[in-house]
Parts: sequence; C-alpha cells; structure tokens
Amino acid sequence: MPRPEDSYAEPIPADGYMEDLAGFIAASPSPLHVVESIRRRLEAESFRIVDESEPWPTEPGRHFLIRGGSVVAWDSGAGHGPSRGFRIVGAHGDSPNLRIRPRPDRDGSGFRQLGVEVYGGVLLNSWLDRDLGLSGRVMVESASGRPEPVLVHIDEPIARVPQLAIHLDRSINTDGLRLDPQQHIVPIWGTGTSENGDLLGWVAERQDLDPASILAMDLMLHDLTPPSLVGADRTLFAAPRIDNQLSCHAGLRAFLGACGTGTDSGVPVLAVFDHEEVGSESQSGAAGSLLATILERVAVAAGLSRDQWFAALADSMCISADGAHATHPNYPQRHEPDHQIRVNAGPVLKFNANMRYATDAQGAAEVEALARSLDIPLQHFVTRGDLPCGSTIGPVTASRLGVRTVDIGVAQLSMHSAREMCGSLDPPLFSRLLGAFFCSDATGKVTP
Ligand code: ZN
Repeated sequence: MPRPEDSYAEPIPADGYMEDLAGFIAASPSPLHVVESIRRRLEAESFRIVDESEPWPTEPGRHFLIRGGSVVAWDSGAGHGPSRGFRIVGAHGDSPNLRIRPRPDRDGSGFRQLGVEVYGGVLLNSWLDRDLGLSGRVMVESASGRPEPVLVHIDEPIARVPQLAIHLDRSINTDGLRLDPQQHIVPIWGTGTSENGDLLGWVAERQDLDPASILAMDLMLHDLTPPSLVGADRTLFAAPRIDNQLSCHAGLRAFLGACGTGTDSGVPVLAVFDHEEVGSESQSGAAGSLLATILERVAVAAGLSRDQWFAALADSMCISADGAHATHPNYPQRHEPDHQIRVNAGPVLKFNANMRYATDAQGAAEVEALARSLDIPLQHFVTRGDLPCGSTIGPVTASRLGVRTVDIGVAQLSMHSAREMCGSLDPPLFSRLLGAFFCSDATGKVTP
C-alpha cells in the first residue's frame, strides 16, 4: 500500500526555498506544531527560551517565549537596542480545521465515528472524502504533579468524512451542497462500535502512554496529501494551511537572516499568534497582552525609562503578514475590477477604509519605498464595495500597541480550504521583503 508521500504529487525540488516551506508545512499540522517547528529552528540558531514566570534575562541577546500556541522571538543583542524601537513581523499560526470534541466517540450504522467541532471559517466541502491524520497534544499526569503536554502527530489515514452518493442527492450539482456541521461533518474512523476501542485509548497506545494518565487533550484532524508543485510549468504550489503558515515561514526565515547583522534599526521581533481564525481574543491571541508585555519587559531589561519606552513604541513598526486573495479566474466578478491580483506578481498590500486591514498611506509608503529599493513589485488589494472584508491580526496589533502597522501577504486561491494554492515564485520574494524590513530604519531605508 503506497504511503501518502509516495502518491502522484510532484516532488518539490530539494534545493531551495519552496522545499523548505513544504517541509515546514508538513511538519506543522497544528498550531502547536507550528510553534514546535519554529522553536527547533530558533534553538539551532542559539536562541534561548524565556520562562515568563521567571525574572526577565538582563543580558541582551537572542530569546523567545512560548505561550500556548503562540511564539514570540526577538534579538536585542548585536546592536539591535530597543531605544530605536521594534521592527515586528506578526503572523498567525492557526488554520481553520476540525477539532476533536472532549468526548468524541460515537456509533452510527456500523461505523465508529468522531464528534468534531468546526474551528474557524472552514470551507466544509473541502474536508469531504479526504484521508485525514490526527495531531495536537494530550496533557498527561507527571511525577511532579503538574500536567505535562505530549505532542501528537500521526500522519496516517485514520479518519474520513464521506460524501453522500449522487444517486441519493440528484440535485446537488444544480442546487448546491448544503452541509450541517452537526449532522454531516462526523468523520468515520473505523467499523464496529466504540466498544471495539475509543479514540483516547488508541492515541494512548500510539504514544506509549497509560490511558488513565491522560487528563485532557487538544486534538484535530489534518489532510494528508503532501504539498506539491502544480501546473505544467510548476509555477503553482498546493498545500494545506498556506494561510498562514506561508507567512510564518517567510517571517521566520527573514527574521533569522536579519538577526545579528549588526544594523541599528531597532529590535527585530517575530510574533506568531494562535486563534486569529476565531477572533484573536484569548490568552495567547493577538488581541491579548502577550506581545505588549514582552516588548515592555525587553525595554525595561534594557534600562529604558517609562518615557523612553513610549518613545520606542512610537519609533516602531509592524508588518502583519497574512494571505491575500488572488483574482479567481472562474469568479472574476467577486473581485474589485480595478484591483485585480495575480499570483507570481509580487506581495500584496491590503487596504480597507474601515480598518479591517491596518495599512495607512504612511505605512504603505514605507513598504513601497523598501520594495522599490529591492526591485520587488507590489500589488494592491481592496475588497468589492458590496462584499464584507476579511481581517487579520493587523488591526488588533495596531490598536493594542499603538504601533504603525501594514497588512501585506502572498496572493492565493482557495483560502480556508483543506488544501489551498498560491504561486511558487511569490513566497521567496515575500520573505526577502520582510528581511529588508527588519534591517530598515523608520524611513524605509535599508541599512547596509
Ligand atoms: Zn490568515
């Protein structure tokens, strides 16, 4: 039996940026794994983890902090002092998906089934008839008495949400597919009944744990089809979670490239937040205290006075990196006709007069100047006047910190599908722009 990675998918050339992105996505089926993927790369570059319940490190240098499914990294050494403010790239690491309920086991018509809850704005149809794996974490009892997390990443086709045969719903192609998440999105994960085995028992066995030691869980499903280059000319890239792991990865590479360059352009900060897809309001979300608290503690540790801290914030800037909508060739009428967006035509600056995106003229001008100096083309997105606009972590970060923020990202199709698609030439270009942003001063000039 071929494993999913042996399937038809066009292998991504093992020599560059897109292969690295494909590897990052494949290793990160849940937001907790995004944090883990980032943690591994930071530690390989000598970043040290900070425990926020302990006194803050007084030595400047390379640090990161993890809170739940969010991670923030910064480098206050090598000339990057907070007195020049902060250069922040923010992104979200969560993607819409199906989350396992606390008591998931169900029986139906001779099948074992899983109760799931829909997380975020899922395109439900895209989860039908896919081979699904399981990921997330379980919390287990430990000798210390404090529950310990155990990461779970099972890349095996254990679940599937089967479609109804067309013979039983003849009007589906003319009347459209209607899906009730409670009734129709109930994955099958075996035959028989839950007496043949429950989900937690199975996970415990796979993780070599005592089932009785599991106290709680955050588990979710993911599509197993590997990322692939698409098109006869291989100029497209299809993968799960492009929104927004593409930006997490681009920001991470740019951040690691900028750290230690000795430029005096403020402290480079990478902030990857959980819970954007459900509104950012959580202990670790962008609307919470996480980033503001970290930046203030970095400033205090560097000896800034309260007045200097506010001045540093005023000198700071944030890029909110998140996916943008490419114009869909089959639905061009859904897009603003004077703001057509193409794949492989450069990063997309996103505007909204009602501040669903944080970009204003001053911030846009700085990014434009930067892009010009690098010869990177930019595109400009606004939504149609008769359609509501999506949003990002940009506006909440801007209002929480009072820092000028620009929304920008890579054009894609199928946003919030279990499998999305973008151009294969845009992601490295986007990362180069973010790298230059980290090394530029508040006037947009890149410090050599
Ligand atoms: Zn997004």
